[in-house]
Amino acid sequence: MLKADYLIVGAGFAGLTAAERLCTQYGRSCVVVEQRNHLGGNAYDFHNDHGVLVHAYGPHYFRTNSPRIREYLSRFTDWHEVEYRILSFADGRYWSFPINLKTFEQWIGRDSTSGEMQAWLESQRVAIGHPRNSEEAVVSKVGWEMYETFFKGYTIKQWKRDPKNLDASVCARIPVRTNRDDRYLTEAFQALPRDGYTRMFERMVDACGARLTLLLNTDYRDVLPRVDWNHMVYTGAIDEFYDRRFGALPYRSLRFEHESFTPEQLRERESISGKPGFWQPAMQVNYPNDEAFTRIVEIKHATGQDCPNTTIVREYPEDYGPGTEPYYPVPAPDSAVLYKLYKQLAERENRVSFIGRLATYRYYNMDQVVGMALAEVEKLEGK
Ligand code: FAD
Ligand code: UDP
Repeated sequence: MLKADYLIVGAGFAGLTAAERLCTQYGRSCVVVEQRNHLGGNAYDFHNDHGVLVHAYGPHYFRTNSPRIREYLSRFTDWHEVEYRILSFADGRYWSFPINLKTFEQWIGRDSTSGEMQAWLESQRVAIGHPRNSEEAVVSKVGWEMYETFFKGYTIKQWKRDPKNLDASVCARIPVRTNRDDRYLTEAFQALPRDGYTRMFERMVDACGARLTLLLNTDYRDVLPRVDWNHMVYTGAIDEFYDRRFGALPYRSLRFEHESFTPEQLRERESISGKPGFWQPAMQVNYPNDEAFTRIVEIKHATGQDCPNTTIVREYPEDYGPGTEPYYPVPAPDSAVLYKLYKQLAERENRVSFIGRLATYRYYNMDQVVGMALAEVEKLEGK
């Protein structure tokens, strides 16, 4: 029998932040149970057989506006600061993306100004005061043509839903700018853990010392009879916790196809990538329309790793089902109704906290999940 103050389900950002704080700040004992064979949840990274540091479950671009969250994680890692830049490939060419003045200049085929772009957008925009869905969120900013070139096909592939049936927040994640700022993201701090995410998570675990017992390759349901705990912090899927009694919540899954290249193989790509040692011209290229995949990621652009080889990853959206992972909760009115039923049950639990992307069924970024875990621990420990 294992005895611990806390049983923590999941060793991703949510579970490990909670465990680290409980062990080191409050002197609690924790058993962390993770069904996968590694730390880090979806942020897990590793060096592949070609020596390239890759993100196992899709690109994870850390960013935050919160000094508190940055300071907290900085205890466990130094950072490689990087401005994330991506491109979109549509109509047979690369476009500056997210939409900005450079995109507009490509669109009209000549140099332009912010003022001209603003006037053009004004002429394209559909007047909608409060966008109610993702189609409205985009056409109210850029109009139908750019919506159809850059958003509609991508969103249907990714979510298998018309953007009309997705919350406005999904496509509203992507900024539109009338200056030449072509950064993918807008947060003040944009950086990757210098030695990778996994190393950072290992340091979080090390900080806990003997107070933490880590069980990998283990479904928490299999150890319940063997652990005597006072409180559970659950970061898995909320519908699974309740055996899907109201029905399964919808999730989208992904299939990742990795392909690696040697410097010799990369030589013929130099005219496209623009520099030796790389396959494509940016860390991420989105393919909104003609391909089955949504994006190709070459993370070496962002990690800054000094490695002669490179790896690209094509991302194919998939239905969620047996043998796949529930990567994305689906932000839509129908799933919100179902989630609410589970949330009502969760709110009645005295001995279980639900935190993280799966347990709260929210399309959260990593920093938001860290913030949520820090807040939950403070609440639990009465501070
Ligand atoms: P997870 O990382 O999902 O961890 C939950 C863990 O619980 C998992 O490891 C799971 O195996 C485990 N678990 C579940 N059920 C059980 C069980 N029954 N028993 C034991 N263990 C269990 N965020 C960003 O900020 N920037 C990005 O660029 C970014 N890109 C992303 C790209 C993709 C493709 C995806 C899918 C997500 C991306 N995110 C990004 C979001 C980021 O992955 C999440 O915010 C973060 O990983 C959530 O952490 P978590 O601990 O809540 O969940
Ligand atoms: N999106 C799009 N075209 C793009 C990029 C994004 O239509 O080129 C939409 C799509 O619906 C996507 C959402 O905007 O799911 C959010 O994009 P983001 O790049 O933030 O996706 P994530 O990295 O979370 O998968």
